Amino acid sequence: MKKCLALLLSALLLFSCAGVAFAAEETDSFGAYEHVFIIGIDGLGASFDKVDSPNFDRIFADNAYRHDAHTEYITTSAQNWGSILTGVSYDTHGFTNDWCEKNERDSTSDNNSIFYYARQAFPDAELVSFNNWDAINHGIIENDLGVKKINRGTDPLVTDAIVRYFEKGNTPKLMFVQLDSVDHAAHTYGGYSKQYYSAAEKADVFLGDIYDAIDARGLMKDSLFILVADHGETTNGHGGQTKDESSAILAVAGHSVNQTVLNEDVHNRDVSAIALYALGIEQPEHFVSSVPADLFGESREKTVEENPMSPALRGLRKLLYVFVRMVNLLVSVFDKK
Ligand SMILES: [Zn+2]
Repeated sequence: MKKCLALLLSALLLFSCAGVAFAAEETDSFGAYEHVFIIGIDGLGASFDKVDSPNFDRIFADNAYRHDAHTEYITTSAQNWGSILTGVSYDTHGFTNDWCEKNERDSTSDNNSIFYYARQAFPDAELVSFNNWDAINHGIIENDLGVKKINRGTDPLVTDAIVRYFEKGNTPKLMFVQLDSVDHAAHTYGGYSKQYYSAAEKADVFLGDIYDAIDARGLMKDSLFILVADHGETTNGHGGQTKDESSAILAVAGHSVNQTVLNEDVHNRDVSAIALYALGIEQPEHFVSSVPADLFGESREKTVEENPMSPALRGLRKLLYVFVRMVNLLVSVFDKK
């Protein structure tokens, strides 16, 4: 009888262990993604919570987000993009806007960016970074890793370059994008002005266009799509520690991302840990960013609604792109003279 009981218990134990192993395999998102796309909107803060953002809604409704993730304590651009890309705090990397505009880095620098670790893991992979504010491509992302760096001076031009990049059939392993018009509106008209909110609504349209360009290439089924801001604003600049300035969106979409509002301790620099984790790259020990415990769950089918923008409006935008491209071409021709 005792023998029977022991056998039964052992069988139960084995069965439950197998169950745990099976569950762990099912929920493990380490390396579960082929591509990671990081879309950065400068100065957006928590504003997608206050404006109509139908593209944000359709992309992230079934995924994980938090409008007021924490920022670095100095709520300036380079301080935060630096942390988002290097996984360490501002006190460690020390980037300022001025430094990034005037200096360049290579892979022998301290506090390498996630592009460095992606290059180590995938020597032949396509890595790309699109900037409106090119100090990120200039001063934060290393210049000797073969990262394709594409700089355009307006958000429509950045978005247009991305759409054409995917139309040409490119498939990046890791892509970073920085859009700047929301922060620009805040500096020109004040944060939380009518123009600021209007810029945030336009940024949502760019976000949708970028997502659709990736999706049209069939990449979203095995991609992680991340939206992040560097900081928020006040009515009169940013850099301080008010709640508005130090709140920033962090949103993540992917086949194994939970449908949840992320825990309140999430930080915008966690993007670096999330990106490496998704691509199956071990996080360096010096990182102070981490993968939020509530981010990943079981892989499942997700459907994202079509872009709510009408086909006629999209046609009009295409015309506008062509117009902007022609103006740019003319400007460059005259510049050369
Ligand atoms: Zn900024």
